[in-house]
Formats: sequence, structure tokens, C-alpha cells
Amino acid sequence: MQTEIAIIGAGMAGLACARRLARAGHTPLVLDKGRGIGGRMATRRVIMDDGDISFDHGAQYLTVRDPDFAADLHNLGAACVRWDDGADSLRLVGVPGMSGLPRAMAAGLNVRLGAQITAVRAKFDRWQLYIDAARIETRHLVMTVPAPQAAALLGDGHPLHHRIAGVAMAPCLTLMAAFPADAPRPFRSRAADDHPLAWIAQDSSKPGRAGTLTTWVAQASVEWSERHLEDTSEIIASRMLPILAEVIGVAPQSAVYAATHRWRYARTVTPLGEPFLCSEDGTLHIGGDWCLGARVEAAWASGTAIADTILEQTGSF
Ligand SMILES: Cc1cc2nc3c(=O)[nH]c(=O)nc-3n(C[C@H](O)[C@H](O)[C@H](O)COP(=O)(O)OP(=O)(O)OC[C@H]3O[C@@H](n4cnc5c(N)ncnc54)[C@H](O)[C@@H]3O)c2cc1C
Repeated sequence: MQTEIAIIGAGMAGLACARRLARAGHTPLVLDKGRGIGGRMATRRVIMDDGDISFDHGAQYLTVRDPDFAADLHNLGAACVRWDDGADSLRLVGVPGMSGLPRAMAAGLNVRLGAQITAVRAKFDRWQLYIDAARIETRHLVMTVPAPQAAALLGDGHPLHHRIAGVAMAPCLTLMAAFPADAPRPFRSRAADDHPLAWIAQDSSKPGRAGTLTTWVAQASVEWSERHLEDTSEIIASRMLPILAEVIGVAPQSAVYAATHRWRYARTVTPLGEPFLCSEDGTLHIGGDWCLGARVEAAWASGTAIADTILEQTGSF
């Protein structure tokens, strides 16, 4: 299969890039190994006896500084709304879950899910992407996967490999727990860097969430996550649930649902310091949040900057 522009990653960076290119008349092919769109802007849906519930187990909210990002979000209408968790700054969330925002962004784009790229190779003036036995050839290749995964795909022989290797990303272990509707709800969100649960959010307090249960998402600190990264999910849940229960003032055994998610590459600790990397011949662009920071907006800025460069190269501005 042949395409002009292929983008690996259907997270915020890949989608921002694809939308910008599509608006200028291109038809990029977006490939993602996941079952859903959005990458770390993720929402897990759980079917319970008395109705579905959901958890934003990746990005919790997004903040906006760049007016162009604000305009892009504005165009997505009701997919993104304010969450009043008591913070001074404006915090936005996707509806009906965080993944609702990237899903709205993907409307009309050519996105192929369940497509894990196992290798990329440059051949003459094209890039070859391998998905199991299948091969896709593209003129322009955009990679928007987390830095360690980009480095692995590129291989240590590539001249850009050492640039990516300087980026550091930290893991995050995340607990999703649901309690009865009348369980205590002492706060909507809580950040505490010196606590094993560095972030706790009452997910059910976000607008447009399904179900009547009280749902919580707790993220372990970097230190705690690194220490328990290789524990089994059961052990992680058995350790995190009592800590959460103590903070919110409930009995751990009153939880009607508890599960964990292991993000190996959650947060950028040392960013690249520029919006993207580009190969000497201009056919390979590598980006993602890790280029500029640890936020959804950093991912958008990276993907958008890549699209603008490709549009300049192809004279389609
Ligand atoms: C627990 C957690 C909490 C966070 N909280 C916040 C927050 O509150 N506010 C905020 O602004 N940011 C937050 N972030 C960060 C935010 O989620 C990211 O900055 C942003 O979503 C990154 O987008 P991205 O497109 O760069 O990467 P990703 O979203 O990681 O997208 C990369 C995509 O590439 C795909 N991929 C990887 N390898 C391959 C391959 N070989 N083949 C095909 N596809 C591949 C992945 O499946 C993924 O979908 C949080 C992140 C985590 C994990």
C-alpha cells in the first residue's frame, strides 16, 4: 500500500498534525496500535449491573495557553467542556470522557487502529512501515509515539536516535475505583507531590459522565510508580486502594470496582526543548508531547508544528 503522508500515533500530537494537513487538502493515513483513538487521552468504560461507568485513566484535564489551540478546541464544540474542580485556572475535559475529544478530532480522518508498526526503514525516496507481514510505503513519515518507543522504532544507527535518547519519561501507576453513589466525596481533585498518591480526582464530578456511582482516579507519584512498576495488577490494586480509601474516608471493601493501569511512559521529565525532530532530507518528522513538555497542549503544539513544516515543504500553505 502506498500513501503520501503516514502518521504513527493517534494521540493528540498525531491527530493535531493530521487535522492540519487534512484542512490543507492532504489525506494523511494515521496508524495506531491501540484499540481506541486518543493515546494517553484515554477513557475506560466498564459495564456494571446498574449501568456503565467510565474512568479517565490517562490525562485528567487540559489547560490552554495558545490562542490557536483554543480556537481548534472551540471548533470541536461540545466535545470539550469546563471541569470546575475548584482550581483557579481553567481546566477542560473531554465529553463523555477524555477520549471524547480526540475521537471528535479524528472525525473525517483516515485512521487505522490495531496497526502496530514493528519497523520503519528508509528506502530510496520513500519510507517503509511494517505491520506484521504487511508493508506501507510513504513519502513523508511522521512519528508521534512516546520518545523511548520512537527511539526503538528508529534504531540506534539513525542520526536522530541520540537526540531522542536525551529525553526522559516517567511511569505512572493509576488506580480506578468506584464506590456507591452515597459514598463520601470530600473533594473533586487533590494534588500532593509528597504523597504516594500524587493526584486524586473524583472522576464522577466531571461533566457528562455516565452512571450514578462515585468514581475516583488516583495516580501514584513517580517514586511510588517506579518502585512498583513490575508488580502485578492485583498487587498494585491491593496497595493503592487502601491508600485512596483512607484519603477519601471510606472502607476499602466498600469499593464496587477497582482496577489499575500501568503507564510506562506517562510524563515527560526531560523534554527535547524544541517542537519536533526532522531528518536531513525532510521526509521524517518525529514529535509528541515529550518535545516540549508533559501536557496535552505540548502534544498539540508539536503535531501542529510538524504539519506546518510539511505544508511548507509541499507548498500547500
Ligand atoms: C496518567 C497520566 C496523566 C496525565 N495527566 C495529564 C493532565 O492532567 N493534563 C495534561 O495536559 N496532560 C496530562 N498527561 C499527559 C498527556 O496525556 C500527554 O501529554 C498527551 O496525551 C500526549 O499525546 P501524544 O500524542 O504526544 O502521545 P500519546 O497520547 O501517547 O499517543 C501516541 C500514540 O502512539 C501509539 N503508538 C505507540 N507505538 C506505536 C507503534 N509502534 N505503532 C502504532 N502506534 C503506536 C500509541 O498507541 C498512542 O496512541 C497525562 C498522562 C498520563 C499518562
